[in-house]
Amino acid sequence: MFDLIVLGGGPGGYLAAERAGGAGLSVLLIEKQYIGGVCLNEGCVPSKALLNSAKMYDHAANGEKFGVISENARLDQAAVVKRKNRVVKRLVGGVKNTLKKNGVEVVEGFGTILGRENGVIKLAVSATADAAEKTVYEGKQLIIATGSEAIVPPIPGVKDGLADGTVLTNREILELTEIPETLVVVGGGVIGLEMAAYYNTVGSKVTVIEMLDHIAGAADRELVTILQKNFEKKGITFHLNSQVTAVGGGQVSFKDPDGAEQQVPAAKVLMSVGRRAVTKGFGLENLGVMVERGHIVTDNHGLTNVPGVYAVGDVNGVWMLAHAAYREAEVAVNTILGKKDQMRYQAMPSVIYTNPEMAFVGETEETCAAKGIAYDKVMIPMGFSGRYLAESEDTDGVIKLLIDPVHKCLIGCHMLGLYASEIIIAAGMLVETEMRIDDIKEFIFPHPTVAEIIREAIFQYKG
Ligand code: FAD
Repeated sequence: MFDLIVLGGGPGGYLAAERAGGAGLSVLLIEKQYIGGVCLNEGCVPSKALLNSAKMYDHAANGEKFGVISENARLDQAAVVKRKNRVVKRLVGGVKNTLKKNGVEVVEGFGTILGRENGVIKLAVSATADAAEKTVYEGKQLIIATGSEAIVPPIPGVKDGLADGTVLTNREILELTEIPETLVVVGGGVIGLEMAAYYNTVGSKVTVIEMLDHIAGAADRELVTILQKNFEKKGITFHLNSQVTAVGGGQVSFKDPDGAEQQVPAAKVLMSVGRRAVTKGFGLENLGVMVERGHIVTDNHGLTNVPGVYAVGDVNGVWMLAHAAYREAEVAVNTILGKKDQMRYQAMPSVIYTNPEMAFVGETEETCAAKGIAYDKVMIPMGFSGRYLAESEDTDGVIKLLIDPVHKCLIGCHMLGLYASEIIIAAGMLVETEMRIDDIKEFIFPHPTVAEIIREAIFQYKG
Protein backbone atom coordinates (compact mmCIF):
# COMPACT_ATOMS: atom_id res chain seq x y z
CA MET A 1 0.00 0.00 0.00
CA PHE A 2 1.26 3.49 -0.89
CA ASP A 3 1.30 6.40 1.56
CA LEU A 4 0.01 8.60 -1.25
CA ILE A 5 -1.55 8.09 -4.67
CA VAL A 6 -1.51 11.03 -7.09
CA LEU A 7 -3.96 10.95 -10.00
CA GLY A 8 -2.76 13.05 -12.96
CA GLY A 9 0.81 13.92 -13.95
CA GLY A 10 0.54 17.63 -14.86
CA PRO A 11 2.21 20.43 -12.83
CA GLY A 12 -0.09 19.83 -9.84
CA GLY A 13 0.32 16.07 -9.87
CA TYR A 14 4.00 15.70 -10.72
CA LEU A 15 5.13 18.34 -8.24
CA ALA A 16 2.99 16.81 -5.48
CA ALA A 17 4.53 13.41 -6.23
CA GLU A 18 8.07 14.84 -6.28
CA ARG A 19 7.65 16.73 -3.01
CA ALA A 20 5.97 13.80 -1.23
CA GLY A 21 8.53 11.29 -2.53
CA GLY A 22 11.35 13.64 -1.55
CA ALA A 23 9.93 13.81 1.98
CA GLY A 24 10.11 10.03 2.29
CA LEU A 25 6.53 8.98 1.52
CA SER A 26 5.90 6.02 -0.77
CA VAL A 27 4.14 7.56 -3.78
CA LEU A 28 2.33 6.24 -6.84
CA LEU A 29 1.67 8.63 -9.74
CA ILE A 30 -0.93 7.62 -12.33
CA GLU A 31 -0.92 9.41 -15.71
CA LYS A 32 -3.04 8.45 -18.70
CA GLN A 33 -1.47 10.47 -21.49
CA TYR A 34 1.78 12.27 -20.87
CA ILE A 35 3.85 13.29 -17.86
CA GLY A 36 3.92 17.07 -17.66
CA GLY A 37 0.21 17.36 -18.46
CA VAL A 38 -1.24 20.21 -20.48
CA CYS A 39 1.39 22.71 -19.32
CA LEU A 40 4.47 20.95 -20.61
CA ASN A 41 2.96 19.19 -23.61
CA GLU A 42 0.23 21.40 -25.07
CA GLY A 43 0.07 24.56 -22.99
CA CYS A 44 2.49 26.94 -21.26
CA VAL A 45 5.81 25.65 -22.53
CA PRO A 46 5.08 24.87 -26.22
CA SER A 47 3.16 28.15 -26.64
CA LYS A 48 6.11 30.09 -25.22
CA ALA A 49 8.55 28.26 -27.50
CA LEU A 50 6.46 29.36 -30.49
CA LEU A 51 6.11 32.92 -29.21
CA ASN A 52 9.88 33.19 -28.82
CA SER A 53 10.35 32.18 -32.47
CA ALA A 54 7.83 34.89 -33.42
CA LYS A 55 9.78 37.44 -31.36
CA MET A 56 13.04 36.50 -33.07
CA TYR A 57 11.41 36.63 -36.49
CA ASP A 58 9.95 40.04 -35.69
CA HIS A 59 13.38 41.31 -34.58
CA ALA A 60 14.94 40.02 -37.79
CA ALA A 61 12.22 41.33 -40.08
CA ASN A 62 11.79 44.72 -38.40
CA GLY A 63 15.25 45.42 -37.03
CA GLU A 64 15.94 48.61 -39.03
CA LYS A 65 15.17 50.90 -36.07
CA PHE A 66 17.90 49.08 -34.14
CA GLY A 67 20.31 49.30 -37.06
CA VAL A 68 19.87 45.64 -37.89
CA ILE A 69 19.20 44.93 -41.56
CA SER A 70 18.43 41.36 -42.42
CA GLU A 71 17.10 40.97 -45.91
CA ASN A 72 14.67 38.17 -46.71
CA ALA A 73 14.00 37.22 -43.09
CA ARG A 74 11.79 34.12 -43.29
CA LEU A 75 10.05 31.96 -40.74
CA ASP A 76 10.13 28.19 -41.24
CA GLN A 77 7.04 27.04 -39.34
CA ALA A 78 7.93 23.35 -39.58
CA ALA A 79 11.31 24.12 -37.97
CA VAL A 80 9.61 26.22 -35.27
CA VAL A 81 7.38 23.26 -34.35
CA LYS A 82 10.35 20.89 -34.45
CA ARG A 83 12.26 23.08 -32.01
CA LYS A 84 9.17 23.36 -29.79
CA ASN A 85 9.01 19.56 -29.71
CA ARG A 86 12.68 19.38 -28.67
CA VAL A 87 12.04 21.79 -25.79
CA VAL A 88 9.01 19.77 -24.64
CA LYS A 89 10.90 16.47 -24.87
CA ARG A 90 13.77 17.85 -22.80
CA LEU A 91 11.52 19.24 -20.08
CA VAL A 92 9.34 16.12 -19.86
CA GLY A 93 12.54 14.03 -19.64
CA GLY A 94 13.71 16.25 -16.78
CA VAL A 95 10.44 15.77 -14.88
CA LYS A 96 10.61 11.98 -15.35
CA ASN A 97 14.16 11.95 -13.98
CA THR A 98 13.18 14.04 -10.97
CA LEU A 99 10.26 11.72 -10.20
CA LYS A 100 12.63 8.77 -10.37
CA LYS A 101 15.19 10.51 -8.14
CA ASN A 102 12.46 11.08 -5.55
CA GLY A 103 11.47 7.42 -5.59
CA VAL A 104 8.04 7.96 -7.17
CA GLU A 105 6.49 4.94 -8.87
CA VAL A 106 4.90 6.06 -12.13
CA VAL A 107 2.15 4.02 -13.78
CA GLU A 108 0.95 4.89 -17.27
CA GLY A 109 -2.76 4.32 -17.69
CA PHE A 110 -6.24 5.59 -16.93
CA GLY A 111 -6.95 5.77 -13.21
CA THR A 112 -10.42 5.12 -11.80
CA ILE A 113 -11.28 5.64 -8.15
CA LEU A 114 -13.02 2.53 -6.83
CA GLY A 115 -13.73 3.81 -3.33
CA ARG A 116 -12.50 3.40 0.23
CA GLU A 117 -12.64 0.22 2.31
CA ASN A 118 -11.54 0.14 5.95
CA GLY A 119 -9.74 3.45 5.50
CA VAL A 120 -7.85 2.26 2.38
CA ILE A 121 -8.41 4.17 -0.89
CA LYS A 122 -8.50 1.91 -3.97
CA LEU A 123 -7.83 2.90 -7.57
CA ALA A 124 -7.88 0.75 -10.71
CA VAL A 125 -5.52 1.48 -13.59
CA SER A 126 -6.27 0.30 -17.13
CA ALA A 127 -4.79 1.07 -20.56
CA THR A 128 -7.88 3.10 -21.51
CA ALA A 129 -10.97 4.28 -19.60
CA ASP A 130 -13.05 1.30 -20.70
CA ALA A 131 -10.43 -1.47 -20.99
CA ALA A 132 -11.39 -4.61 -19.08
CA GLU A 133 -7.93 -5.48 -17.79
CA LYS A 134 -7.20 -3.51 -14.61
CA THR A 135 -4.60 -3.42 -11.86
CA VAL A 136 -5.82 -2.26 -8.46
CA TYR A 137 -3.62 -0.04 -6.26
CA GLU A 138 -4.16 0.95 -2.64
CA GLY A 139 -3.23 4.15 -0.87
CA LYS A 140 -3.67 5.87 2.49
CA GLN A 141 -4.23 9.32 0.96
CA LEU A 142 -5.09 10.64 -2.51
CA ILE A 143 -4.30 13.82 -4.42
CA ILE A 144 -6.54 14.40 -7.43
CA ALA A 145 -4.81 16.46 -10.14
CA THR A 146 -6.77 15.58 -13.26
CA GLY A 147 -6.54 19.11 -14.69
CA SER A 148 -8.75 20.64 -17.34
CA GLU A 149 -9.70 20.34 -21.01
CA ALA A 150 -10.67 22.79 -23.74
CA ILE A 151 -14.38 23.60 -23.94
CA VAL A 152 -15.75 22.90 -27.41
CA PRO A 153 -19.06 24.77 -27.75
CA PRO A 154 -21.90 23.19 -29.76
CA ILE A 155 -21.67 25.74 -32.59
CA PRO A 156 -22.83 24.37 -35.98
CA GLY A 157 -19.82 23.23 -38.01
CA VAL A 158 -17.35 22.97 -35.11
CA LYS A 159 -17.55 19.18 -34.78
CA ASP A 160 -17.01 18.62 -38.50
CA GLY A 161 -14.25 21.24 -38.50
CA LEU A 162 -12.43 19.44 -35.71
CA ALA A 163 -12.67 16.22 -37.71
CA ASP A 164 -11.33 17.73 -40.96
CA GLY A 165 -8.64 19.85 -39.26
CA THR A 166 -10.03 23.32 -40.06
CA VAL A 167 -11.15 23.87 -36.45
CA LEU A 168 -8.42 23.60 -33.82
CA THR A 169 -8.08 23.63 -30.04
CA ASN A 170 -4.92 24.64 -28.18
CA ARG A 171 -3.60 21.13 -28.85
CA GLU A 172 -3.71 21.20 -32.65
CA ILE A 173 -2.77 24.84 -33.17
CA LEU A 174 0.60 24.21 -31.53
CA GLU A 175 1.27 21.49 -34.13
CA LEU A 176 0.50 23.44 -37.32
CA THR A 177 3.45 23.20 -39.67
CA GLU A 178 2.06 25.70 -42.17
CA ILE A 179 0.95 29.28 -41.56
CA PRO A 180 -2.74 29.66 -42.47
CA GLU A 181 -3.56 32.63 -44.68
CA THR A 182 -6.45 33.56 -42.40
CA LEU A 183 -7.06 32.58 -38.77
CA VAL A 184 -10.17 33.31 -36.75
CA VAL A 185 -9.72 33.05 -33.00
CA VAL A 186 -12.98 32.43 -31.16
CA GLY A 187 -12.50 33.77 -27.63
CA GLY A 188 -10.18 36.65 -26.70
CA GLY A 189 -8.84 35.26 -23.42
CA VAL A 190 -5.17 34.67 -22.65
CA ILE A 191 -4.74 31.54 -24.79
CA GLY A 192 -6.61 33.07 -27.74
CA LEU A 193 -4.58 36.29 -27.56
CA GLU A 194 -1.23 34.51 -27.39
CA MET A 195 -2.05 32.47 -30.48
CA ALA A 196 -3.54 35.51 -32.25
CA ALA A 197 -0.30 37.41 -31.56
CA TYR A 198 1.85 34.51 -32.80
CA TYR A 199 0.01 33.99 -36.07
CA ASN A 200 -0.29 37.73 -36.70
CA THR A 201 3.49 38.12 -36.34
CA VAL A 202 4.28 35.22 -38.64
CA GLY A 203 1.96 36.35 -41.42
CA SER A 204 -1.67 35.21 -40.97
CA LYS A 205 -4.56 37.64 -41.25
CA VAL A 206 -5.99 37.23 -37.74
CA THR A 207 -9.50 38.06 -36.49
CA VAL A 208 -10.53 37.67 -32.85
CA ILE A 209 -14.22 37.27 -32.05
CA GLU A 210 -15.15 37.80 -28.39
CA MET A 211 -18.57 37.64 -26.73
CA LEU A 212 -17.70 40.12 -23.94
CA ASP A 213 -17.09 43.83 -24.39
CA HIS A 214 -13.37 43.37 -23.66
CA ILE A 215 -10.52 40.95 -24.29
CA ALA A 216 -8.08 39.39 -21.77
CA GLY A 217 -10.60 38.27 -19.13
CA ALA A 218 -10.02 39.76 -15.69
CA ALA A 219 -6.97 41.87 -16.61
CA ASP A 220 -6.95 45.62 -15.87
CA ARG A 221 -9.29 47.23 -18.42
CA GLU A 222 -7.27 50.39 -19.00
CA LEU A 223 -4.17 48.41 -19.95
CA VAL A 224 -6.21 45.93 -21.97
CA THR A 225 -7.53 48.81 -24.09
CA ILE A 226 -3.93 49.87 -24.81
CA LEU A 227 -2.98 46.26 -25.60
CA GLN A 228 -5.91 45.89 -28.00
CA LYS A 229 -4.97 49.12 -29.83
CA ASN A 230 -1.39 47.87 -30.07
CA PHE A 231 -2.62 44.62 -31.65
CA GLU A 232 -4.91 46.53 -34.01
CA LYS A 233 -1.97 48.64 -35.20
CA LYS A 234 -0.22 45.36 -36.02
CA GLY A 235 -3.18 44.19 -38.09
CA ILE A 236 -5.32 42.02 -35.79
CA THR A 237 -9.07 42.68 -36.16
CA PHE A 238 -11.32 42.44 -33.11
CA HIS A 239 -15.07 41.92 -33.00
CA LEU A 240 -16.27 42.40 -29.41
CA ASN A 241 -19.81 41.83 -28.11
CA SER A 242 -20.07 39.33 -30.94
CA GLN A 243 -21.29 35.75 -30.95
CA VAL A 244 -20.12 33.08 -33.36
CA THR A 245 -23.13 31.32 -34.93
CA ALA A 246 -21.55 28.91 -37.44
CA VAL A 247 -18.23 27.67 -38.74
CA GLY A 248 -17.53 26.06 -42.10
CA GLY A 249 -16.99 26.57 -45.82
CA GLY A 250 -13.84 28.58 -45.18
CA GLN A 251 -15.56 31.19 -43.05
CA VAL A 252 -16.91 32.00 -39.60
CA SER A 253 -20.34 33.57 -39.20
CA PHE A 254 -21.11 35.76 -36.20
CA LYS A 255 -23.73 38.11 -34.87
CA ASP A 256 -22.31 41.60 -34.40
CA PRO A 257 -23.37 43.93 -31.54
CA ASP A 258 -26.30 45.19 -33.65
CA GLY A 259 -27.55 41.64 -34.15
CA ALA A 260 -26.55 41.59 -37.82
CA GLU A 261 -24.95 38.43 -39.28
CA GLN A 262 -21.41 38.91 -40.56
CA GLN A 263 -18.90 36.56 -42.15
CA VAL A 264 -15.15 36.53 -41.97
CA PRO A 265 -12.81 34.27 -44.03
CA ALA A 266 -11.11 31.51 -42.00
CA ALA A 267 -8.68 28.97 -43.38
CA LYS A 268 -8.33 27.82 -39.74
CA VAL A 269 -10.42 28.51 -36.65
CA LEU A 270 -9.06 28.34 -33.11
CA MET A 271 -11.66 27.57 -30.47
CA SER A 272 -10.40 29.16 -27.26
CA VAL A 273 -13.57 29.87 -25.30
CA GLY A 274 -12.30 28.53 -22.01
CA ARG A 275 -11.36 25.34 -20.16
CA ARG A 276 -13.35 22.98 -17.99
CA ALA A 277 -12.09 20.98 -14.99
CA VAL A 278 -11.89 17.22 -15.56
CA THR A 279 -14.19 15.79 -12.88
CA LYS A 280 -16.17 13.14 -14.73
CA GLY A 281 -15.63 9.52 -15.72
CA PHE A 282 -13.02 8.47 -13.16
CA GLY A 283 -15.10 7.56 -10.11
CA LEU A 284 -15.11 10.73 -7.98
CA GLU A 285 -18.61 9.72 -6.87
CA ASN A 286 -17.23 6.48 -5.39
CA LEU A 287 -15.58 8.56 -2.68
CA GLY A 288 -18.38 11.14 -2.46
CA VAL A 289 -16.03 14.01 -3.42
CA MET A 290 -18.02 17.25 -3.65
CA VAL A 291 -18.13 18.92 -7.08
CA GLU A 292 -19.76 22.33 -7.44
CA ARG A 293 -20.15 24.39 -10.62
CA GLY A 294 -17.98 21.89 -12.46
CA HIS A 295 -14.96 21.77 -10.17
CA ILE A 296 -13.89 19.96 -7.00
CA VAL A 297 -14.47 21.99 -3.85
CA THR A 298 -11.41 22.35 -1.59
CA ASP A 299 -10.40 24.30 1.49
CA ASN A 300 -7.21 26.38 1.67
CA HIS A 301 -5.14 23.23 2.29
CA GLY A 302 -6.44 21.60 -0.91
CA LEU A 303 -8.51 19.19 1.18
CA THR A 304 -11.86 18.08 -0.27
CA ASN A 305 -14.92 17.20 1.83
CA VAL A 306 -13.49 13.64 2.11
CA PRO A 307 -10.73 13.15 4.75
CA GLY A 308 -7.38 12.24 3.18
CA VAL A 309 -8.49 13.29 -0.32
CA TYR A 310 -7.01 16.47 -1.81
CA ALA A 311 -7.50 18.24 -5.16
CA VAL A 312 -4.89 20.57 -6.67
CA GLY A 313 -4.48 22.47 -9.93
CA ASP A 314 -7.06 23.24 -12.60
CA VAL A 315 -9.47 20.59 -11.29
CA ASN A 316 -10.30 22.75 -8.24
CA GLY A 317 -11.18 25.68 -10.52
CA VAL A 318 -9.62 28.37 -8.31
CA TRP A 319 -6.94 29.65 -10.72
CA MET A 320 -6.27 27.73 -13.92
CA LEU A 321 -2.55 28.48 -13.90
CA ALA A 322 0.44 26.17 -13.65
CA HIS A 323 2.09 28.16 -10.84
CA ALA A 324 -1.16 27.99 -8.84
CA ALA A 325 -1.09 24.21 -9.32
CA TYR A 326 2.55 24.05 -8.12
CA ARG A 327 1.87 25.94 -4.93
CA GLU A 328 -1.36 24.06 -4.24
CA ALA A 329 0.55 20.79 -4.66
CA GLU A 330 3.12 21.91 -2.07
CA VAL A 331 0.43 23.03 0.37
CA ALA A 332 -1.43 19.70 0.05
CA VAL A 333 1.76 17.68 0.57
CA ASN A 334 2.83 19.81 3.54
CA THR A 335 -0.60 19.32 5.07
CA ILE A 336 -0.29 15.54 4.58
CA LEU A 337 3.15 15.70 6.24
CA GLY A 338 1.66 17.59 9.19
CA LYS A 339 3.49 20.84 8.36
CA LYS A 340 1.65 24.13 8.82
CA ASP A 341 0.88 25.62 5.40
CA GLN A 342 -2.04 27.10 3.50
CA MET A 343 -2.94 28.75 0.20
CA ARG A 344 -3.09 32.51 -0.09
CA TYR A 345 -4.28 33.77 -3.46
CA GLN A 346 -4.05 37.56 -3.11
CA ALA A 347 -0.67 37.74 -4.87
CA MET A 348 -1.22 35.32 -7.77
CA PRO A 349 0.65 36.68 -10.80
CA SER A 350 -0.88 36.40 -14.28
CA VAL A 351 0.93 36.88 -17.56
CA ILE A 352 -0.09 37.26 -21.19
CA TYR A 353 3.06 36.41 -23.16
CA THR A 354 2.28 38.51 -26.21
CA ASN A 355 4.47 41.26 -27.63
CA PRO A 356 4.13 43.55 -25.71
CA GLU A 357 3.80 41.33 -22.66
CA MET A 358 1.19 42.02 -20.03
CA ALA A 359 1.64 40.95 -16.42
CA PHE A 360 -0.38 41.71 -13.34
CA VAL A 361 -0.88 40.82 -9.72
CA GLY A 362 -3.34 41.72 -6.98
CA GLU A 363 -6.35 43.98 -7.25
CA THR A 364 -7.48 45.75 -10.42
CA GLU A 365 -9.43 49.00 -10.44
CA GLU A 366 -12.44 46.88 -11.38
CA THR A 367 -12.07 44.47 -8.41
CA CYS A 368 -11.48 47.43 -6.06
CA ALA A 369 -14.72 49.02 -7.27
CA ALA A 370 -16.62 45.74 -6.92
CA LYS A 371 -15.27 45.09 -3.40
CA GLY A 372 -15.46 48.73 -2.25
CA ILE A 373 -11.68 48.91 -1.69
CA ALA A 374 -10.21 52.43 -1.59
CA TYR A 375 -7.01 52.92 -3.61
CA ASP A 376 -4.58 55.49 -4.91
CA LYS A 377 -3.26 55.08 -8.43
CA VAL A 378 0.10 55.75 -10.03
CA MET A 379 0.54 55.17 -13.76
CA ILE A 380 3.68 55.99 -15.73
CA PRO A 381 5.14 54.97 -19.09
CA MET A 382 7.62 52.09 -19.11
CA GLY A 383 9.81 54.53 -21.05
CA PHE A 384 10.81 56.07 -17.69
CA SER A 385 13.20 53.12 -17.55
CA GLY A 386 16.44 53.69 -19.45
CA ARG A 387 16.85 49.99 -20.19
CA TYR A 388 13.32 49.86 -21.60
CA LEU A 389 14.13 52.69 -24.01
CA ALA A 390 17.43 51.05 -24.91
CA GLU A 391 15.76 47.78 -25.78
CA SER A 392 12.27 48.62 -27.00
CA GLU A 393 10.75 50.83 -29.65
CA ASP A 394 7.29 50.19 -28.25
CA THR A 395 5.79 53.41 -26.90
CA ASP A 396 2.68 51.75 -25.47
CA GLY A 397 4.36 50.30 -22.36
CA VAL A 398 2.94 51.40 -19.00
CA ILE A 399 2.99 50.40 -15.35
CA LYS A 400 0.07 51.01 -13.01
CA LEU A 401 0.34 50.66 -9.24
CA LEU A 402 -2.67 50.53 -6.92
CA ILE A 403 -1.84 51.56 -3.37
CA ASP A 404 -3.79 51.18 -0.14
CA PRO A 405 -4.14 54.85 0.95
CA VAL A 406 -4.42 53.96 4.65
CA HIS A 407 -1.76 51.29 5.15
CA LYS A 408 0.44 52.69 2.36
CA CYS A 409 1.20 49.36 0.76
CA LEU A 410 0.88 47.96 -2.75
CA ILE A 411 -2.36 46.09 -3.47
CA GLY A 412 -2.05 45.74 -7.24
CA CYS A 413 0.48 46.09 -10.05
CA HIS A 414 -0.26 46.00 -13.80
CA MET A 415 2.44 46.17 -16.43
CA LEU A 416 2.42 46.27 -20.20
CA GLY A 417 5.74 46.01 -21.98
CA LEU A 418 9.07 44.27 -22.36
CA TYR A 419 10.08 41.88 -19.52
CA ALA A 420 6.79 42.46 -17.61
CA SER A 421 6.54 38.67 -17.21
CA GLU A 422 9.94 38.49 -15.50
CA ILE A 423 9.45 41.55 -13.29
CA ILE A 424 5.95 40.93 -11.95
CA ILE A 425 7.22 38.57 -9.24
CA ALA A 426 8.87 41.54 -7.51
CA ALA A 427 5.51 43.31 -7.33
CA GLY A 428 3.89 40.04 -6.24
CA MET A 429 6.26 39.79 -3.27
CA LEU A 430 5.45 43.36 -2.26
CA VAL A 431 1.71 42.68 -2.43
CA GLU A 432 2.09 39.39 -0.53
CA THR A 433 4.21 40.87 2.26
CA GLU A 434 2.20 44.14 2.46
CA MET A 435 5.46 46.07 2.63
CA ARG A 436 5.11 49.80 3.32
CA ILE A 437 5.86 52.21 0.46
CA ASP A 438 8.57 53.93 2.56
CA ASP A 439 10.33 50.58 3.08
CA ILE A 440 10.12 49.74 -0.64
CA LYS A 441 11.89 53.05 -1.36
CA GLU A 442 14.96 51.73 0.47
CA PHE A 443 15.46 48.78 -1.91
CA ILE A 444 18.36 49.08 -4.32
CA PHE A 445 17.40 48.07 -7.85
CA PRO A 446 20.15 47.18 -10.35
CA HIS A 447 20.64 49.86 -12.99
CA PRO A 448 19.81 49.91 -15.80
CA THR A 449 17.00 47.39 -15.62
CA VAL A 450 13.37 47.50 -16.67
CA ALA A 451 12.53 46.41 -13.11
CA GLU A 452 13.56 49.92 -11.99
CA ILE A 453 10.18 51.02 -13.30
CA ILE A 454 8.68 49.73 -10.04
CA ARG A 455 10.99 52.03 -8.06
CA GLU A 456 10.18 54.94 -10.41
CA ALA A 457 6.45 54.41 -9.96
CA ILE A 458 6.80 54.08 -6.17
CA PHE A 459 8.65 57.41 -6.01
CA GLN A 460 5.92 59.06 -8.12
CA TYR A 461 3.44 58.26 -5.32
CA LYS A 462 2.75 61.38 -3.34
CA GLY A 463 0.10 59.98 -0.99
P1 FAD B 1 -3.01 19.35 -16.30
O1 FAD B 1 -1.78 20.00 -16.77
O2 FAD B 1 -4.26 19.46 -17.12
O3 FAD B 1 -2.66 17.84 -16.06
C1 FAD B 1 -3.65 16.90 -15.70
C2 FAD B 1 -3.14 15.52 -16.06
O4 FAD B 1 -4.01 14.55 -15.51
C3 FAD B 1 -3.11 15.29 -17.56
O5 FAD B 1 -1.81 14.91 -17.96
C4 FAD B 1 -4.13 14.17 -17.80
O6 FAD B 1 -3.74 13.28 -18.80
C5 FAD B 1 -4.12 13.47 -16.43
N1 FAD B 1 -5.37 12.75 -16.12
C6 FAD B 1 -6.63 13.25 -16.09
N2 FAD B 1 -7.52 12.28 -15.75
C7 FAD B 1 -6.79 11.16 -15.52
C8 FAD B 1 -7.14 9.83 -15.13
N3 FAD B 1 -8.40 9.47 -14.88
N4 FAD B 1 -6.14 8.94 -15.02
C9 FAD B 1 -4.84 9.28 -15.26
N5 FAD B 1 -4.47 10.52 -15.62
C10 FAD B 1 -5.43 11.44 -15.75
N6 FAD B 1 -0.54 28.42 -17.21
C11 FAD B 1 0.41 29.24 -16.76
O7 FAD B 1 0.59 29.37 -15.55
N7 FAD B 1 1.22 29.94 -17.63
C12 FAD B 1 1.06 29.86 -18.98
O8 FAD B 1 1.78 30.49 -19.73
C13 FAD B 1 0.05 29.00 -19.48
N8 FAD B 1 -0.12 28.86 -20.81
C14 FAD B 1 -1.07 28.00 -21.27
C15 FAD B 1 -1.23 27.87 -22.64
C16 FAD B 1 -2.18 27.02 -23.16
C17 FAD B 1 -2.32 26.89 -24.65
C18 FAD B 1 -2.99 26.25 -22.26
C19 FAD B 1 -4.02 25.29 -22.79
C20 FAD B 1 -2.84 26.37 -20.89
C21 FAD B 1 -1.88 27.25 -20.38
N9 FAD B 1 -1.70 27.42 -19.00
C22 FAD B 1 -0.75 28.28 -18.54
C23 FAD B 1 -2.51 26.68 -18.02
C24 FAD B 1 -1.74 25.44 -17.50
O9 FAD B 1 -1.42 24.61 -18.58
C25 FAD B 1 -2.58 24.71 -16.48
O10 FAD B 1 -2.96 25.61 -15.45
C26 FAD B 1 -1.79 23.56 -15.85
O11 FAD B 1 -1.42 22.63 -16.84
C27 FAD B 1 -2.64 22.87 -14.79
O12 FAD B 1 -1.95 21.80 -14.24
P2 FAD B 1 -2.74 20.56 -13.64
O13 FAD B 1 -1.70 19.66 -13.06
O14 FAD B 1 -3.83 21.01 -12.78
O15 FAD B 1 -3.46 19.86 -14.87
